[in-house]
Amino acid sequence: MIKTDVIIIGGGATGCGIARDLALRGIPHCLIEKGDLAAGATGACHGLLHSGGRYAVSDPVAAKECYDENRILRRIGEKCVERTGGLFVRLPGDSKMFRERFLRGCDDIGIPTEILSSTRALELVPNLNPALEEAIVVPDCSIDPFRLCLLNMKTSQIKGGLSFTRHRVVEIVRSHGRCIGVKAADVYTGEIKEIHANILVNASGAWTDRVARLAGCEVPLTLSKGSLVITNHRLTDMVINRLRPASDGDIIVPNEAVCLAGTTSLLVEDPDRIGIEPAEVDTIIGEAGRMIPHFNSTRIIRAFSGVRPLLKSQKLDSREISRGFQIIDHQNGLYSIVGGKLTTFRLMAEKMVDTIMAAFNLKRDCETAERPLDGQEELSGYPLNKRLADMKNIVCECELVTRGDVERIIEQTGTRHVGDISHRTRLGMGPCQGGFCTFRALGIMHDMDILTAEQSVQSLREFLERRFRGIRYALWGDQLREEQLVEYIYLGILALGKHS
Ligand SMILES: Cc1cc2nc3c(=O)[nH]c(=O)nc-3n(C[C@H](O)[C@H](O)[C@H](O)COP(=O)(O)OP(=O)(O)OC[C@H]3O[C@@H](n4cnc5c(N)ncnc54)[C@H](O)[C@@H]3O)c2cc1C
Repeated sequence: MIKTDVIIIGGGATGCGIARDLALRGIPHCLIEKGDLAAGATGACHGLLHSGGRYAVSDPVAAKECYDENRILRRIGEKCVERTGGLFVRLPGDSKMFRERFLRGCDDIGIPTEILSSTRALELVPNLNPALEEAIVVPDCSIDPFRLCLLNMKTSQIKGGLSFTRHRVVEIVRSHGRCIGVKAADVYTGEIKEIHANILVNASGAWTDRVARLAGCEVPLTLSKGSLVITNHRLTDMVINRLRPASDGDIIVPNEAVCLAGTTSLLVEDPDRIGIEPAEVDTIIGEAGRMIPHFNSTRIIRAFSGVRPLLKSQKLDSREISRGFQIIDHQNGLYSIVGGKLTTFRLMAEKMVDTIMAAFNLKRDCETAERPLDGQEELSGYPLNKRLADMKNIVCECELVTRGDVERIIEQTGTRHVGDISHRTRLGMGPCQGGFCTFRALGIMHDMDILTAEQSVQSLREFLERRFRGIRYALWGDQLREEQLVEYIYLGILALGKHS
């Protein structure tokens, strides 16, 4: 049995942020995640480091939190934040009254804005709809959620924190009505680890209610699914928002060589059973195409979706539910933390750890806003073309990942999953969606004696199946042709269908 002070359930941005904060305040902890880090909403999000502009009219408290955190993250996380800047574009027919409320809201909160003529906006982003009326500049940024989680966990690791990924919490151990630990099952072997602690933090996002129920508690949530599509080109160097009340498909975020457009908002019951409706893909492309007409003719490489864990509300439109967060003390040693945004994860972690410090009757101030994220020196910066120097032995041409990168991740993590390498290097995330690099990465694992031949085939099949779940919604035009090529490579040349 393992003993620690705090157990964190969930390795999304919130859980990883809590681990970093605990590490910096000297509190022993153990994080448990059923998938890889960022496996939930964190890895399925738009990657927008909000300026707060999106919420300036509807939710000023969340908007202020976003703006403050945006400034902090730009400072402490320069290798996972790209300072793109953002534009709110007003198209013909978009309400002028909303524009006034937007500017007033930003002003009240302190979010800096600059009004641009359509000519100036087109100079900054030539792909914009030339019919736009005007644009307003805000300090939106693009953020890499995978890097963000890994860098937060780096501090935990340096300070001796424990973490178990691919371990599912299946039981909360109780004694005399108090939660004293968890049982976590290794998702491959089924082996159970029992870990005990004084405090348990439930940071399991859309699964918060399910985890709380293991301790006989409840956390009523509204689960809102959002879908996104990815283009194979970076159509804009700035984040583009539509200047209107939040609606489907009104944000486009550049991320390295691609763009993410979305999102939608549909209520769901079960976070493990979410799919993408073809109508969602059509809506997103149609709306994004109104802001950037090229969007309609650009290749869409895949679609994906995630679930927002929002505080329960009677509001029918989940977009109207506050993006604020809440810490729930279940009065039995278990705390749940819900709501918020990726942008506000650090603040959420700070408040959670303040609560834990008070429960332990300890005093040590939070340092996460001042100290740069650990481990950034090992990363390249933005944009992508800076990484072209010193590239040898490229395994993934779309994302410029080298054999050395893959070997380093395997050595560091001992992983047997191509997905884990993707999250750490972006291998397989470009236009061919793993068509050319997956078998190369598995070959490297085989060379390094991590996988047997049979295990490589199994791992390859699982990876391709998972990718295809997203790709199938984008099968037309060039992407369909690319997918057919990939299919021929795997079924024809590598005879994958013959290995069962
Ligand atoms: C489509 C979409 C777009 C979004 N875009 C943005 C954006 O651009 N900017 C922004 O700021 N916010 C955005 N958000 C919101 C943001 O993604 C979330 O608020 C944030 O990522 C939540 O992080 P989290 O760590 O609380 O939850 P999650 O990231 O969901 O993490 C919870 C983790 O708990 C794990 N878990 C669950 N049950 C167990 C168990 N039994 N045992 C072990 N582990 C378990 C899950 O696997 C998961 O990894 C978006 C959300 C969605 C859905």
